[in-house]
Amino acid sequence: MAKSDFKHPYDVIIVGGGAAGLAASIFIMRQTCGVSTAILEKSPRTGRKLLATGNGTCNLSNFHTTPACYHGDLSFAKHALNSFLPEKTCEFFNSIGVECTVRENGRIYPICKHAGAVLDCLRLEMAALGAHEICDAEVLDIEATDSAFKLKTATGYFSARYVLVCTGGMASPSLGGSPDAYRLLTSLGHTRTTLFPSIVQVRTDTQFIKALKGIRVDASISFLHEGRCLAEYKGEILFTEYGLSGPAVMQISRAVAEWELKKQGRMVAVIDLIPQMDYADLIKSLRRRLAMPGRTMGDVLTGLLQKRVGQTVIRSAGFSLNMQTESLSDGDIELIAKQIKQFKAQVLGTRGMAGAQVTAGGISTAEFNPTTMQSKIVPNLYAAGEVLNVDGDCGGFNLQWAWASANLASKAIVKSLQALS
Ligand SMILES: Cc1cc2nc3c(=O)[nH]c(=O)nc-3n(C[C@H](O)[C@H](O)[C@H](O)COP(=O)(O)OP(=O)(O)OC[C@H]3O[C@@H](n4cnc5c(N)ncnc54)[C@H](O)[C@@H]3O)c2cc1C
Repeated sequence: MAKSDFKHPYDVIIVGGGAAGLAASIFIMRQTCGVSTAILEKSPRTGRKLLATGNGTCNLSNFHTTPACYHGDLSFAKHALNSFLPEKTCEFFNSIGVECTVRENGRIYPICKHAGAVLDCLRLEMAALGAHEICDAEVLDIEATDSAFKLKTATGYFSARYVLVCTGGMASPSLGGSPDAYRLLTSLGHTRTTLFPSIVQVRTDTQFIKALKGIRVDASISFLHEGRCLAEYKGEILFTEYGLSGPAVMQISRAVAEWELKKQGRMVAVIDLIPQMDYADLIKSLRRRLAMPGRTMGDVLTGLLQKRVGQTVIRSAGFSLNMQTESLSDGDIELIAKQIKQFKAQVLGTRGMAGAQVTAGGISTAEFNPTTMQSKIVPNLYAAGEVLNVDGDCGGFNLQWAWASANLASKAIVKSLQALS
């Protein structure tokens, strides 16, 4: 290939214009003078997934970030996380014009609650610093030569001295997630761990749940495998036509996704529909209600639970909604209380990568230096963000990983560039 076949040769090319790639271009350009940097993005525009974060409000970090909020290779992740704390994330976003605020459970958001504004500010800063953003440029292949990398895209070839791969994971294909994200690194000799969805909705037997479609409850949910509790969380649950969604379910869905890899044994979701009340108080409340005149079983839980939830509980306990309440035995009352405190649904699996917010697993971190994010296999090749085998809990931890790992990689690239000049 003639040298003229290459588009402008860059010092640094970042593959993938998502959270990590956009931030990295700013980190690099701010620390260097006269260095040429470009982002190659396969989609028609950068930051598509970022726009969808936090339901469009962008939960960009979390003040309670510790390595314990992460999965995959924690000892690898802690270097980047400790070198770029959530305070630094807020400082960085302030510096590009995004004012931040802390909400429940340490979650950090832009004050304007608008992911679009976060993306706009990142892109404005990039442009002001002179980083190039090249869209519709899917990188199909990266070839490492002695002096530089050659990157093949559908529209031509690019070259760079340093390459930072920020291609994300395969979660949410409608927002750009793809298994191809890993291919570039595996074709350069890297290996990939098993992938599975995380922060994802859960499919269950819908015999009773279907009737609750669209209802949100503040409840407590546990996933029990062969009777053993694997994960438990209190918060909002959304009943859907396929099963369960909502923040509390998404938060602990990893347990279901891990089970789904082999599907051995039985997994059950157990929901406490009234965690504010203990068993004894609930029984007292039920006795009081049953003594109220003129109520049928269809009304007896109204005022304690949402009407449709109460009626579903009664039906799942085996009672008809028209039945009069006087004939109930102590055993019946206990059965209803149990249905409220332990409303069960058999788990079938997750909604897969299509519904997932993040990919668990990724490119093996053992092949990267945790203090620089540089490949141990290919010199001058770096990676950051979700493409690596690190994923966080729900609550801003995944974006914090994207910023922190991008920052560490950028610092190392700049240091290496400066050593050359
Ligand atoms: C619906 C939803 C809501 C979420 N909400 C939150 C939240 O509120 N808080 C939080 O912390 N996390 C959230 N996440 C997770 C978070 O968005 C990701 O973990 C984060 O975006 C990962 O950043 P990244 O830069 O590694 O990858 P991405 O942001 O996915 O960016 C990767 C980019 O690389 C591009 N690309 C891939 N392959 C190629 C190629 N071969 N050539 C060129 N370009 C390529 C992709 O098109 C994409 O633009 C959410 C995710 C989803 C799906």
